[in-house]
Amino acid sequence: MTIATQGELRLLVLDDENDVAATICIMAEASSYAAQHTDDANDFFKRLAAWAPTHIVVDLQLADRDGIEVLHQLAILGCMATVIIISGLGGRILESAARIAAENGLNLAGTLSKPFSRSDLMRLLAINQPASLPGQGHSPTSQQSTVSAKQLVAALQSKSLTTHFQPKISCLNGQHSGFECLARWPQQDGSMIPPDVFINLAEREGLIHELTRQVYDYALAHRPRKGKAANLKFALNLSPVNLVDETFPRWLMAKCAEHDISPSRIILELTETASMDNPLGLLENLTQFRIRGFHLSIDDFGVGFSSLVQLARLPFSELKIDRMFIKSLSQSEESRKIVTAVVGLGSSLGLNVVAEGVEDLWALEFLRKIECDEAQGYFIARPMDESAATQWTGFEWKEAT
Ligand code: C2E
Ligand code: MG
Ligand code: MG
Repeated sequence: MTIATQGELRLLVLDDENDVAATICIMAEASSYAAQHTDDANDFFKRLAAWAPTHIVVDLQLADRDGIEVLHQLAILGCMATVIIISGLGGRILESAARIAAENGLNLAGTLSKPFSRSDLMRLLAINQPASLPGQGHSPTSQQSTVSAKQLVAALQSKSLTTHFQPKISCLNGQHSGFECLARWPQQDGSMIPPDVFINLAEREGLIHELTRQVYDYALAHRPRKGKAANLKFALNLSPVNLVDETFPRWLMAKCAEHDISPSRIILELTETASMDNPLGLLENLTQFRIRGFHLSIDDFGVGFSSLVQLARLPFSELKIDRMFIKSLSQSEESRKIVTAVVGLGSSLGLNVVAEGVEDLWALEFLRKIECDEAQGYFIARPMDESAATQWTGFEWKEAT
């Protein structure tokens, strides 16, 4: 058995078609991988423990088990290797398996339909999961996954929440169009607690009204290029719970005046949830924002509770396609079809269509081709603090050759 060394790329293949497995190993070895293969799932797990591969290829059809069981077991073991799923069973089954792997928290690079070429394989092996890469001006994310209401109250009392700013660009010409402002909770050690950890808590504990006001105040006061680029728009996230606060639209108008920004440069991003059970109240609240000149965006479209009915009935001016579909554009025919249909739908309703979660050039060029209006994602820039966002020089769109 090959002895693993630090920094070495190690590929372990599980496939009961020995000739396919051996070919994959030869292809990988030609690109400096150490590679092993086996057709037996038990042997695979033994090698996994002993050899700690950096990359894994799993076939869905195995003699002794199916590939889904293997993916499950990898997730239970907390496997950190980059996973590639292969199969001769066709696109839809592969896409379902990919979803299962991703939703189980595996580090999935993508899927390959047999037969595939060496370049297909090498493209997936080359994928580094961007979420684990240090980003431009991106502070480390805190490992802390739970926080208490008491800690959040203390953070609000000391006004310690801030925002990071993530650029958005036009898909037509790459021009910088604005920033999304994302809540951050800085910790003593310099790390940041991400909003997924504390927004739900704030909603449950009745703290979201204070939190939203502090976050908006920070974002507007510290917005990058203040005064210099009057055409940049700023997107802020709004919890549906905020909509029950009748004083909020007026408060926000006053804040815009204080920070010298027109409401027409503010986009309020709303994620639909099950709590949107009062359609008339919702319609009234949202219309009030629109009358005051704010833009309204339906966030994470395509997942959760967003529906076509809500889209048509409520006064949204923008549709933001969920990153789940955008991240997988280069690998999933299904995602390409969904995104193409959603862009067409948004345009025909006269909405500005934004794609978030753009992680590669392929996705960006696809979005331009289907005439999506704007793009946001790690490939363009990560969320950055105020000073990094101010220094951001824009996106240089180098066409694929
Ligand atoms: P969102 O509004 O959909 O924001 C986009 C999220 O996607 C951000 O995560 C951003 O960092 C991440 N993202 C951007 N580009 C990429 C990419 O290329 N790949 C991947 N994998 N992710 C990307 P973040 O900052 O952790 O925010 C998570 C969610 O928390 C937001 O989702 C939003 O729903 C909520 N949130 C953030 N700030 C606020 C706030 O001030 N108020 C409320 N109510 N919710 C907020
Ligand atoms: Mg958002
Ligand atoms: Mg979103």
